[in-house]
Amino acid sequence: MDLKDKFSELMRQRQGRLTHEMVLTPGRFGLGRTPERLQPDSTTSMVCGFCSTGCGLKIHLKDGKAVNLTPDPEYPVNLGMACPKGWEALTPLKADNRATVPMIRGGDGKLAPTDWDTALRLFTDKLKDTIARHGKESIAFLSTGQIPMEELFMLGILAKFGMGLVHGDANTRQCMATAHVAYKQSFGFDAPPFTYKDYEDSDVLVFFGANPCIAHPIMWERVMMNPRKPEIIVVDPRQTETALAATKHYPLLPKSDLPLLYGLAHILIREGWIDRDYIDAHTSGFQAFADHVKTYDPAAVGKLTGLGEARMLEFAQSLRPGKRVSLWWTMGVNQSHEGVRTAQAIINIALMTGNIGKPGTGANSITGQVNAMGSRLFSNTSGLPAGRNFQDADHRKEVADILGIDAAIIQQKPGLAYDQILDGVKEGRIKALWVIATNPAHSWIDQEEFRRAAEKLDLLVVQDMYHDTDTARLAHLVLPSACWGEKEGVVINSERRLGLFKKVSPAPGQALADFYIFKLIAKYWGCDSLLKDMDTPEQTFQVMSKLTVGRPCDISGIRDYKMIDEEGGIQWPYPAATVPAASPTDAAPAYPAASSAAVSSGPVRIDRERRLFEDGRFYHPDGKAKFQFGPPQPIPEPVTPAFPFALLTGRSSSAQWHTNTRTGKSAVLRKLYSADSYVEIHPEDASRLKIASGDWVIVRSLRGRARARASVASTVQPGHLFMPMHDVEVNRLTFPSFDPHSRQPSYKHCAVNVEKEG
Ligand code: SF4
Repeated sequence: MDLKDKFSELMRQRQGRLTHEMVLTPGRFGLGRTPERLQPDSTTSMVCGFCSTGCGLKIHLKDGKAVNLTPDPEYPVNLGMACPKGWEALTPLKADNRATVPMIRGGDGKLAPTDWDTALRLFTDKLKDTIARHGKESIAFLSTGQIPMEELFMLGILAKFGMGLVHGDANTRQCMATAHVAYKQSFGFDAPPFTYKDYEDSDVLVFFGANPCIAHPIMWERVMMNPRKPEIIVVDPRQTETALAATKHYPLLPKSDLPLLYGLAHILIREGWIDRDYIDAHTSGFQAFADHVKTYDPAAVGKLTGLGEARMLEFAQSLRPGKRVSLWWTMGVNQSHEGVRTAQAIINIALMTGNIGKPGTGANSITGQVNAMGSRLFSNTSGLPAGRNFQDADHRKEVADILGIDAAIIQQKPGLAYDQILDGVKEGRIKALWVIATNPAHSWIDQEEFRRAAEKLDLLVVQDMYHDTDTARLAHLVLPSACWGEKEGVVINSERRLGLFKKVSPAPGQALADFYIFKLIAKYWGCDSLLKDMDTPEQTFQVMSKLTVGRPCDISGIRDYKMIDEEGGIQWPYPAATVPAASPTDAAPAYPAASSAAVSSGPVRIDRERRLFEDGRFYHPDGKAKFQFGPPQPIPEPVTPAFPFALLTGRSSSAQWHTNTRTGKSAVLRKLYSADSYVEIHPEDASRLKIASGDWVIVRSLRGRARARASVASTVQPGHLFMPMHDVEVNRLTFPSFDPHSRQPSYKHCAVNVEKEG
């Protein structure tokens, strides 16, 4: 009997009220229906479900099911382009290891199919019993930037206000927490200021710890469309694909970026290459910052970074006022033991040179996951919805009033961060963990720590589209979920653009959209009245929209999903009374001011591509951006004689996505990346260790070992190794250290040794 037959059999046997209802009204629960808004044989548009670039795709339907796709030439993000992942976006849906029924681990240690009613009763009974015995802080959830914002929001509302849980985090902690905290402290709100058009409008583009050539290939294409013959500067210890294409590469020593930035600020101030008028009018704290960087003498910093003083001076000259300079960063900065201060040092350079709020400028964090920005704004984990704070009584009251709940049930401080939740599991304080659409048994830093922690849990629930991810293999209960293309919702890309997911394919078997899984859990838990105004994703979007009114991320001018679709995505903010420009020349001003009050008097026409801070006003109460800084900290795990190499990690191919659970399903994509794990090693080191390209080698850290093929190349410096983050072995090696402000893990540096397999 296959799983589908088993499901039918179980349905016949149980006839539980909700499961019966689900079978009889599949449309309501997303079971196998034809998309109600779409013609069976037609073409529709939606946003790609992989990365934060947020490309528009045309999906071609036959008999109500997606059969093919092409990049959308009208979409303002990708202009008709797609990377290999985008072209293959439909393939992972058809994989034969999709989770199609709920599964419970039995006494024999194996996962066995069950029905939704049994699964949800187990979920509810076990968790309620855990709370009764150990309190509400004994359960935590971990979610993801891969699901739409309505689902993230509903989870946060259900878990925190319905089930009363205190601790929940998302895998955005692993990629974007640093940028979130950096912007919030510097600008007063988590607000990436740019639009992709800035790639085309810059005279100088500086990439810190970013490799857009393969990590964000469509953004890189936008750089290539720049008509201004820009200078392209890459700051990275490794000679990445982007560094090879750059006009200048600064191969600094690992984790010396913060002193480098302070050294550059020192030169800019010393030489008078700053925008004094902008600093005086729009920033605070500059003098203290200038005093701080006085000690970062370029000669000393040149030595510390390995770049030398002359190259520091050359770099600073590229940042002089008079040119449009945009500064971009991603995981090389965010995933650092001092990521927040490093990101803020980049922001400081933009502020002091007046490179913000104008075309081709900005201190710009490129996000990773398709809905990382949505998670940052609405997940109700580290902050209340729409960028509010748990600690603020007014914010708690605003949220309570809009949701119609008692403000007293809202916790007065954020719960534990991801690493602290796992510490709680290891120490036995947290007994049950609910993991939604993420794969920490692969992706968590020092993954063996996660696996050891998981063994201690009384209940590990994994809600995922596959039943055999590294994490699902450890679960006691697996809840099968629908994927991108099988459900509706909104995601927010790197340039703050809201884009739409549509249901263009039925979910397999009994798999449900996470939205409806949360609705069912609320029903079984007995708190579904909390979600009474949220029967569909679009209704939920309207509730979320109300929560943004008057906030910097105000989207109350977006009427509905149709409007997002018709406009080709809409960037926040978009307050009520905003209307789109009829043509590119019809927009005045290009952006409604940072304060939504500026648009309350009447309609403001705006562009399809907008940047923030054009009026020079930021979100701190004084309207100014703040210079933030602090002393650099030592590398948490320096190299030693026993572990003499610094291991760098990163993306290695535009055809892979994170833990490969989806991209690994495509035969086309698999041909575009190495079938074996590999490690890059410099020719001098390889020669000394008698290692040749293609040899199997063992890389060891104090935490574990990884087997990989050697790739001898001068892309890395002597004493450095590089391994792709997508290989499961890599996080057996990484060292668990965290930025103290953002609690983001530092994946980019640990001490290892390497030898030829014996
Ligand atoms: Fe999809 Fe990102 Fe590729 Fe665009 S760049 S097609 S959003 S994976």
